[in-house]
Amino acid sequence: MRRNWLIPLAASLALAIGGGCSGSSSEGKSPESEAPGPYTAAERKWLGKLGAWRASADVALRIMLLANDDDAVVKALQEGYAPVVNEIRTALEVLKACSQTFREQVGAAPTDRLGQAASATRAACPDLQRGAAEDLRALDGAKPELLDAGDGFIELGAEKLWSANKQVLVRAEGRVLPAVAGPSEKSHVNPDLGPVADSLGENLATATEVRCWSDEDWPDVLDELSAYYGSRPHGELLGFASPDLVRINLAPRICDALDEVLYENADELGEAHALAVLALGHEAMHVAWVVDEAVATCYALQEAEHVGVELGLPRSDARSLARLAWTDAYRALPREYRSTECADGRELDINPNSHAWP
Ligand SMILES: [Zn+2]
Repeated sequence: MRRNWLIPLAASLALAIGGGCSGSSSEGKSPESEAPGPYTAAERKWLGKLGAWRASADVALRIMLLANDDDAVVKALQEGYAPVVNEIRTALEVLKACSQTFREQVGAAPTDRLGQAASATRAACPDLQRGAAEDLRALDGAKPELLDAGDGFIELGAEKLWSANKQVLVRAEGRVLPAVAGPSEKSHVNPDLGPVADSLGENLATATEVRCWSDEDWPDVLDELSAYYGSRPHGELLGFASPDLVRINLAPRICDALDEVLYENADELGEAHALAVLALGHEAMHVAWVVDEAVATCYALQEAEHVGVELGLPRSDARSLARLAWTDAYRALPREYRSTECADGRELDINPNSHAWP
């Protein structure tokens, strides 16, 4: 839960992707179920360039996909309100230059396996470019309502970029993991956790996949992410969400604690269990397109009792765990995950009329 690694896009698009590009299906070459080998220095460097390129594409996509159904944006465009017009125009120019910037900023992949990542990513460019060109024409003709013309292509391109993540991040997103409804020392999907995450998000068109990484694989996953994002997270990463793939990835110790709650009738629920419940809820919020870290944590905190019940705890135990999440786990989190507005009656209180907290 330390970081929302893949930049989430608009909620409307979460619905649009339907069942098409999630789960274990994938386009092109089938992903590996066994862990692929470590990256060479050249591969790490190239992944970093791709990650940086994707970050700017994702910012542009996010602007366009959020604008898509926003009447206020369309009105601002019609009135020629410069800040909005310029923001949209800049985003469209970024998307229109997709192939060119990929060539200039990312370039040829150093190995075959990353060559597949490059092709899968570049395959999104024709749709993005066509959509951006049509939208720019509408903007130049001062007919912003015609932005609809290009948006379909932009959504299509976004979906292609998202599923390309499975070829790009072969050591994490590209792995096909077996479903195991119980404790397991191997990396697996826990089908008992997906519905718990789903119960926190409304309007999810696709069931959330919750991946539990093994002690053996987790460092490889982190290594790949750090190459792609060009940085290591501060402190210990407890999990990360991939909203575009409707997927949550959890660190081994978070899954261990959740397994104890789910399967072992843990007599004594402690801080580790409270933290695990908070982490699962936090990532579920990201999948439900809550972007801000502190907001995601605060909502998760207030849903901790609900999560406990969904995990099979009696209501009173779930309530104790939620209290513990507030008194211990929450307070131990780094500052960016907390907010002074996260308290009874404050801005992030989802039940402002009740004094029950969390
Ligand atoms: Zn997060």
